[in-house]
Amino acid sequence: MTRTEPAGGVDGPVITRLQAEASALDDADPLRRHRDAFVGAETALVYFDGNSLGRPLRASVDRLTAFARDQWGGRLIRGWGPAPGGSAQRTSDERRGRGEDESWMQLPFEIGDAIGRAAIGAAAGQTVVGDSTTVLLYKLVRAAFDAAVAGDAARVEIVVDRDNFPTDRYIVEGIAAERGGRVRWVDVDVTSGVTAELLREAVGPQTAVVLLSHVAYRSGFLADAPTLTRIAHDAGAFIVWDLCHSAGSVPVEADAWDFDLAVGCTYKYLNGGPGSPAFAYVASRLQDRLVQPIPGWMGAANVFAMGPSYAPAAGMRRFLSGTPPIVGMLAMQDTLALIEEVGIEAIRTKSIALTDFAVRLADDLLAPHGVTIASPRDAAARGGHVTLSHAAMRRVTARLWAQDVIPDYRDPGGLRIGLSPLSTSFAETLDGLLAVEAAVRAEA
Ligand SMILES: *Cc1c(COP(=O)(O)O)cnc(C)c1O
Repeated sequence: MTRTEPAGGVDGPVITRLQAEASALDDADPLRRHRDAFVGAETALVYFDGNSLGRPLRASVDRLTAFARDQWGGRLIRGWGPAPGGSAQRTSDERRGRGEDESWMQLPFEIGDAIGRAAIGAAAGQTVVGDSTTVLLYKLVRAAFDAAVAGDAARVEIVVDRDNFPTDRYIVEGIAAERGGRVRWVDVDVTSGVTAELLREAVGPQTAVVLLSHVAYRSGFLADAPTLTRIAHDAGAFIVWDLCHSAGSVPVEADAWDFDLAVGCTYKYLNGGPGSPAFAYVASRLQDRLVQPIPGWMGAANVFAMGPSYAPAAGMRRFLSGTPPIVGMLAMQDTLALIEEVGIEAIRTKSIALTDFAVRLADDLLAPHGVTIASPRDAAARGGHVTLSHAAMRRVTARLWAQDVIPDYRDPGGLRIGLSPLSTSFAETLDGLLAVEAAVRAEA
């Protein structure tokens, strides 16, 4: 790839050595061949933003086209029910084997179970795909808040950190205002995140709910979810985990770590496409105790009874509200199948190797220009992205985008390098960081 660079760049021999290193890492990478399954992998574009919007798999393009033609176009309204010919009696694998698609009505639960298996360590019947992350956070945090207050009227606080994603903070403030509760803010170092020590100071007999991100969107800090869950439970509180930057990137064991509730995005590492619906996890033990605040017909005990008043369905269906967004649920199925095939542990191993490589390149190539690393240096405390900090990063980002090198920018001065293990190569990572070096030199 040729890019115009200002004079005084990285020495030729250094580039040659780094290229040899990247190529050796790619050769040794067991996930290497999957990169070609993604649209655009054949181009020179460097994609560092799969943590905000994952690339599509080629299989998803075919799935979307076939769906529009055969399912939507062919089955029309019948698609909501089982295909004719007694196929409801067949298992979903048998139906797929016969080229019949699922009843659309079952997709939120079938894909939810696949997310549980592939990505979040949840046994079947606890995960559903539904609304946006924002709406699901509202539904689950409010349901948990109401259940906590019903159990003990003194539990009026929702604990959240000041560096959590904006939607998480806004939702918590809204619920506190709506229900007469209070927000307990945890101050964190923006290059790290919520630690056990910080959470212990924040929770107590006044805590109703704790809402935390497993991987911090800004720094990439990976929270110690099992320990923090135990701390919340020891204080008698519910905990809601935001898994937006974890699902498909770092292992999660929702059941084994004793999660209460969780929500996560599907358009990031699960490659569901722009605005694809989020998932909600509710531990079996809590499902029938919680009542969510948007009582729509799809969550009612008997959907087509069209009854005079709402009674919540048993199990996960009570967490749905309106008609499931089926088109948005299509593409993520291909990534979930791929994750099940390769295993989340292999993905995490490559993720660590990629972020370690990026940190090392940043130290070698960017630190001399005053760039610092605003992410944990310890891979065990880091998710799938690395944030590089410098006052000129907003302009650097614009310059990079114009050259088809696509990271993203987050204030203050943070260039986020997102490294999706299934679609990113080490050579691409090197190429991109060399471009960052040239852009910093040009803009600083
Ligand atoms: C991406 C992200 C969201 C996005 O919420 P939407 O409702 O899908 O816009 C929420 N929380 C976190 C932590 C995120 O990273």
